[in-house]
Amino acid sequence: MKILTTTFTTLIVIFCSVLHHAQANDALAYLTASTEHVSPEVALSLLDRFDAENKLLSPDDHAQYYFLYGQKYEKNRQLDLAIESYDKAIAFVESLPVSDILIDSYLERSFVVYLQTNDPATYCIDRRKALAYARQHTNATLLAKTLTQNAFCYNTALTVHKGIALLDEAMVIVDKSDKLDVNRKALIYNATGSLYRTVGLHKRAYENFNKAYLIWQEAADIQDMFNMQHNMLSSAIKLSDWDKANANSAVQFELAQSSPQFEDFYFFAHLNAGRIELGRLDYAAAISHLEAAVSRVDSTQEQYFISSSHLFLAQAYMRVGEPEKAAKMARLFQQNKAFPSNMRSMFLSADAIMAFDKQEYLVAINTLFQLIDEEREQNRKIIQNEVIVTALVHNSKLADFENELLANQLSINKLKLSAAKDKERINELKVSLFILIGTVLLAMVFFLLHSRETFKRSSQTDFLTGIANRGYTINKGERLIARSLRKGQSASVIIFDIDNFKAINDQYGHHIGDQAIQAVTMRAERWLKSQDLVGRIGGEEFLIVLPNTNEAEALAIADRIRSAIAMEPCNFADITIEFTVSLGVAVLSDEVSSLGELMKEADKALYKAKFLGKNRAHLAKSIPNNSVNQVA
Ligand code: GH3
Ligand code: MG
Ligand code: MG
Repeated sequence: MKILTTTFTTLIVIFCSVLHHAQANDALAYLTASTEHVSPEVALSLLDRFDAENKLLSPDDHAQYYFLYGQKYEKNRQLDLAIESYDKAIAFVESLPVSDILIDSYLERSFVVYLQTNDPATYCIDRRKALAYARQHTNATLLAKTLTQNAFCYNTALTVHKGIALLDEAMVIVDKSDKLDVNRKALIYNATGSLYRTVGLHKRAYENFNKAYLIWQEAADIQDMFNMQHNMLSSAIKLSDWDKANANSAVQFELAQSSPQFEDFYFFAHLNAGRIELGRLDYAAAISHLEAAVSRVDSTQEQYFISSSHLFLAQAYMRVGEPEKAAKMARLFQQNKAFPSNMRSMFLSADAIMAFDKQEYLVAINTLFQLIDEEREQNRKIIQNEVIVTALVHNSKLADFENELLANQLSINKLKLSAAKDKERINELKVSLFILIGTVLLAMVFFLLHSRETFKRSSQTDFLTGIANRGYTINKGERLIARSLRKGQSASVIIFDIDNFKAINDQYGHHIGDQAIQAVTMRAERWLKSQDLVGRIGGEEFLIVLPNTNEAEALAIADRIRSAIAMEPCNFADITIEFTVSLGVAVLSDEVSSLGELMKEADKALYKAKFLGKNRAHLAKSIPNNSVNQVA
């Protein structure tokens, strides 16, 4: 229960404080509204009576309150007090997150300083701060406004591009904003035009004023339409573009006629028409318009233009040879002590006319010379500005171009890099492929060699015994005999055959017969040297080729083989077999000088051995073929 009561009390307190704060807020809103349409003095007295000590006012409320003070002091031309008020407004919110009121306070304080000093170096400090804050803030419209105000801080030839960049930025924001702030957009064009005019780029100035004019025309803002026509006309005069200037002049007269509520329109229309005629050297027409303007000076508060109309008329009078009238007008001009001191040539013009009037001709002429110098200096600056701005434009184009080049270079490098990587990968692949192909080839070669070897060997080998087969025995035997002949060495061959082999097969079976063939092979090999060749040339018939072996040696070998077989019975599992072989021996000689002949002779000798009772070696005798027949 106690907890519930505490919670309830807390809620009541919170509710009351919210309500109280809402009330404080309402009071401020009411104050703002009630000070809007009253004279600055009344507004200030209302502000004085407001309870600014109200503890429920937030820092933002306090800033709003002092901002209002600043506005009213500003209107009342109490500029120092206005600055003090903005100081207080800023102090309340500066340490808090960026707010609209902070940015607005900086901008307004800057405007008051501008009114006081007309010195960008001084009043632009606040504008730059405002811009820094506006960039951190989320209010796009306020940023556009701040950008536009800052543009005026770059009004020299060397810095104008920065001002224009700010205006471009502002323009983008205004263009983007959902709720099209027509006024804001036109103001930016106007500010852009002013910047261009300051640095002597009148063509661009004209274009921007024209854009502003078109926007205000759409909004039917007569005063601003008229002002833009004025600005356009001034630029056209600077460009000596009389067609444009006359067109603007015509629009001003139309506006003056259609909107008589703007009392000074005719004054300005005639003043500007007079300026055009002065420029075109039509002094009679100029006098007519300028006199009309001067007759209407009471319709305007703008002292600068009133004084200008006097001086222009003075100049026109001089041109038509009426120095007294001219002097009268020049004197009126000189009476305005607040005329901007930077309008040097206008002062000199008035001085020259006055000197002439006082018959101080030397002074008058020298003043005119001075004026010429002044004009020349102005032109020089303008020409220089043109060059600078042209260079700036060129520079920015160059920068764009360079950026493009850089981008291209980057993409080329990227391509190169990926090409290099690809190349690397291709190389790696190549190497791998090479290795793979190499390995495969090697394997294939190895396999081929191996299989070739195997094939060769198998094609040369007798399946049952593992010794040379008939083909290989004859082939190799021929080579051995040929070599022996070449070397002049002796050589012999032995052909032998198992005796009564059919009977073995018959008695014990073929497999035993096979084993007997194998056993014979092994025993025969036992008595042969590595240089000797033994091969199976028939079922149970063998050929031995013995290089470098003479008749006696061959007969000895033959007999050793015979006895080795005859003396050692073969044991195949549980069967013991005794068998013999018969051998025919032939020796290389003049008559028997090839393997074929040797084999023929050995075969005959073998036949003889069989014939003589088997189990014996018989040496072939070198006898002519017919005698063999005889023997057979
Ligand atoms: P001879 O003493 O006159 O040589 O009488 P033989 O029985 O050995 O007669 P011959 O040489 O004409 O017979 C050879 C027999 O050897 C014929 C064949 O059946 C047998 N033979 C041939 N090749 C093989 C073989 O590879 N294995 C077996 N087991 N028998 C074979
Ligand atoms: Mg046989
Ligand atoms: Mg036999």
